[in-house]
Formats: sequence, C-alpha cells, structure tokens
Amino acid sequence: MSMTGNGLPLQLCDNGWIRVKVPLPFSLRYVNSYLLPEGEGWTLIDPGLHTPEAAALWTEVLGGLSVTAGQINQIVLTHQHPDHYGLAGWFQEQSGAPVYMSREAHRYATRLWGEDRSFDRELTGQFRQHGMPDVLLEQIAGHLASFVERVSPQPNVTYIEEGMSMMFGGRTWELLHTPGHASGHICFYDHTGLDMICGDAVLPGITPNISLVPGEHPDPLQQFLDSLNRLSGLEVGMAYPGHREPFAGFRGRVQDLITHHEQRLQLIEGLLEKPVTGYELCERLFGARTMGSAHNLRFAMSETLAHLEHLVQKGRAAAVQDGSGLFRYVRAAV
Ligand SMILES: [Zn+2]
Ligand SMILES: [Zn+2]
Repeated sequence: MSMTGNGLPLQLCDNGWIRVKVPLPFSLRYVNSYLLPEGEGWTLIDPGLHTPEAAALWTEVLGGLSVTAGQINQIVLTHQHPDHYGLAGWFQEQSGAPVYMSREAHRYATRLWGEDRSFDRELTGQFRQHGMPDVLLEQIAGHLASFVERVSPQPNVTYIEEGMSMMFGGRTWELLHTPGHASGHICFYDHTGLDMICGDAVLPGITPNISLVPGEHPDPLQQFLDSLNRLSGLEVGMAYPGHREPFAGFRGRVQDLITHHEQRLQLIEGLLEKPVTGYELCERLFGARTMGSAHNLRFAMSETLAHLEHLVQKGRAAAVQDGSGLFRYVRAAV
C-alpha cells in the first residue's frame, strides 16, 4: 500500500514495516530506509544521505507518523556507503540511539571521512596509474570531498558482526557478513519469517557496484561472488533491498548476478587481445554518458578495475607496468 495521499514517499510493507524512499542527488534517485515498529519504539535501517532535502523529508515523515526522535531505539546500518550511512549521526544526535555497523565498515568510513582523508589521494593516484586523464582526476577529487558534509555529523558506532544476532521489529535477526559491494557489508536474515534485509548486496533490476579501491581487498569481485554463493543457499520469502522495490525470487536474483559477472568477465577478457589501460577499457564498456558525471565515472572505473584484477588473480590476464608507472592489461597467453 502506498501512502501517497499526504504526498510523502512512504510505503507500508506487507509485514508492517514502513519503507521511506529517501532522495539522492544521483542516478539511483533514492535509497530505501526502513522503519520497523516494536512496542512504543522503532528501529531505523539505513537512514540515507545527509542532504537538506533528505533531512527535511525525514522531519516531515516523522511528523506525519507522529514518531518522535526519542522513539527511535536503534539505528542499524547494512554498510558505510554515504547513501546509507550519511544521516546516521544526524539521527543519533536527536534520538541518542545507538548506531550499529560492522567494524570493517566503520574502518572504511574512517578512511574516507575521518581526520586524515588520505583516501582521496590514494584513489585518484590509483586512477592515474590506470590511465585516467588529469582533468577527470580533478573532478573526482572534488566530488569525493563533497561527501564529507553529506555524512556529517558522524555517529558514534557500536560494532556488530557475523555470529551475533540482533532483535528488532519484534524478531531475531542473524547477521551475515557479505562483503564485495562494500567492505564489512552485513545482511540481516530472519530464518523463521524468511525475510532478508539485504542492503546493496543483492538489488533487483540493477547490479550492485563492485569497486577495486586502494587499501581494501585486492579481489572484491571474488568476495562478492563468495557472498552471493552463500546467499543463494538461503530460503528467502521477501528481500528488502537498499534500492528499488522489495522483491520475491531472491535466489533467482542472486543467480542472475553471478551469471552477469561471469559474462562480464568473458566480455572483458575478449577485449584484452592488445594491452589496454583500465581507463581505455572503462570508456569502451561504459560509454560517454557514464563518463560525463564524476560520480558515475568513479564507479565505472573502479568496477572496470575490479573485473580486470579478478582476471589477473585467476590467471586469465596480466597487468604490465611501463616506465612511466602506467598499467596495461592483456589477456594471458593460452
Ligand atoms: Zn552501497
Ligand atoms: Zn546504496
């Protein structure tokens, strides 16, 4: 049921949760936040990116639902990407609620937006080594810096990890470490009710971004495939993703994502007959439309490098560095 009568982007899910579509200034358009009722209070999952529009929407939503900030008992994060994590501190300031996320995820958030923001230089340095022109590197550096205010104030975090279970929404949730899309990503699974809160590990209609980034796992695509293989063994009725609509057919969707990456790897391998830089390949794979936005370009480039490095790890390609430090990839000799 859609509660559009009051003009707010809310949906009451069949299980009684409230899904709030929190706006994003990117092509993803919105992130799903979920409010789960429990007694007099609520658990908030993935509150969204901190923009004035998103904060204004939340103020209106809570007012419309007659929920006070003090009724938010806990804030639970699937992962640290700013579109999920950004408003956690803002909510914590108002509610005093604990913010739960994995240690890995928090470590990465600190690398990106902590006092020493060396990550931006490391990422643009990596892109330079893979052939990205300086003018685009500058755009990406500016874009990265623009996120600091969109995740501020940052929350005090309480760590959660696989092996723990959590109570929220009147149910017990098993925590599943599902890295690949993000370091330390956690899915929440209720094996009695068969619901899965899957963050961005599994999305309907779009493939979760897989990024090779400096200082994190050297083969994030392998991590992602391992996570998917694990998730494919679980019985799930409804899945509640970070973007797009809640969906049934979870196992089928997981299988589609595995197939997508297998096909993508074959395609890329076929394009490595002659040595190419990651940037040249990114241009060929993603085209001009993606390359026009610093946000999309960053993810397209990191995703291209994730596939290339996976091929290297599997012995299907080799990376060769020239005297100027530039890397080129070429198919492994058969
Ligand atoms: Zn994400
Ligand atoms: Zn997301």
